[in-house]
Amino acid sequence: MKQLRAIRILMATLFALAIAACLLIGPQIHPMARAAWKSQIILSALAATSGAAFVWLLLTFLFGRIYCAGVCPIGSLSDGFSALFRKIDRKMGRKRVYSYREPTRLQLNILLVYLVCIVLGIGLVPLLLEPWNITRNILTPIRPDLADSTWGRLGFGAVIGIVAGVVSAVLLAAVSARRGRFFCTSVCPVGGALSLIGSRSVIHLEIDRDACDVCGICEEVCPAECVKVLDRTIDNSRCVRCFECGAACPREAIHYQMNRNMPLTPLFRRAKQRT
Ligand code: SF4
Ligand code: SF4
Ligand code: SF4
Repeated sequence: MKQLRAIRILMATLFALAIAACLLIGPQIHPMARAAWKSQIILSALAATSGAAFVWLLLTFLFGRIYCAGVCPIGSLSDGFSALFRKIDRKMGRKRVYSYREPTRLQLNILLVYLVCIVLGIGLVPLLLEPWNITRNILTPIRPDLADSTWGRLGFGAVIGIVAGVVSAVLLAAVSARRGRFFCTSVCPVGGALSLIGSRSVIHLEIDRDACDVCGICEEVCPAECVKVLDRTIDNSRCVRCFECGAACPREAIHYQMNRNMPLTPLFRRAKQRT
């Protein structure tokens, strides 16, 4: 699990740098910038630049929300903000931990509103909620022409776009500091759609109920607040496949596997010991 976590962090760093280079300089800067740009779900789904959206839906069905793990720039930015604030907390002698929260219907309701706005041609909502547009908005203070081509086209003017970018960055930082991937698990419409597919992904995370000693570490490090230690369950629909839980578990009790874990009955345990 530590290797999966390391691969995810490397992937997230490369994609975030490539997307920033693509937006600030242009996709011609490096093949990786072009690839990162073309692999964004929203661009692919709305502009039909490639079949990337379909590939991501299939990969989500197989592996869960790996797009959210290391490809989406907003997910990586949220992780970056969380890490920064946790470091500051440690320096000040404070310990910030996550804890399990029950799922709500907020994200699915936002997804519904988002889809209605797309159908009705209301551009403001996608401009404020889509991860790709949020990334562009956040970069507008450095490149105001990015705001021209989106906010300007809708008749708002670049200044509104820059304000929206600054507000988005501040809100994302504040939310990430306290609640980790809250935006990804409760607001983002793309995340809402992926969670519907990823909830029963073929390969998913499970806690081995016999190995786990309920120490609680996995719940404390889960930025998606989806590990319920008391029940020894993981809500795979909200899990963003960061693999922090598995890497932190001292008993290696968290597995990325195909079969669903069942609690071992005492009878079955005895039979297992005899074999
Ligand atoms: S939930 Fe949305 S913002 Fe978060 S990583 Fe996934 S696509 Fe990006
Ligand atoms: S960190 Fe491992 S041992 Fe501790 S509660 Fe989580 S799964 Fe169980
Ligand atoms: S359960 Fe939480 S910590 Fe574990 S991989 Fe999923 S999001 Fe990350």
